[in-house]
Amino acid sequence: MAASVNLALEQLKMNGVRMTPQRHAILSHLLGSMSHPTADEIYKSLSPAYPSMSVATIYNNLRLFVEAGLVRELTYGDDSSRFDADLSDHYHAICKSCGSIVDFDYPPLLEVERAASRETGFVVEGHRMEIYGICPDCNGKNKTQ
Ligand code: ZN
Ligand code: MN
Repeated sequence: MAASVNLALEQLKMNGVRMTPQRHAILSHLLGSMSHPTADEIYKSLSPAYPSMSVATIYNNLRLFVEAGLVRELTYGDDSSRFDADLSDHYHAICKSCGSIVDFDYPPLLEVERAASRETGFVVEGHRMEIYGICPDCNGKNKTQ
């Protein structure tokens, strides 16, 4: 964990972004979180320790991290973007009941990209795949009710 924070800090420096205690806190929180939090959720987690930090500050810093290529933004067509500091190739399973997002590994579906390129003539740069369903927690709750 510490190593990845340091790596991230180096990368920010190369992008000319000055590291502040607040930025460090946001980045560390994201790197240590498995939950793909929204800016609001990060705010709720950090505000006890950083009472002067606003949601807007967090949001602006997340923007900065995304632009520096340190953090991935997951958009869902509304304004509730979620943020992921895990830049490795992985896919997400999303619970339709509670909204939790869980990582899973699967070999990158490069054949889909090749097929898309063949059929459309596009220069393909990437793809996005998400699995929707009910997480084990929510599934368990339904059963006991
Ligand atoms: Zn759920
Ligand atoms: Mn993820």
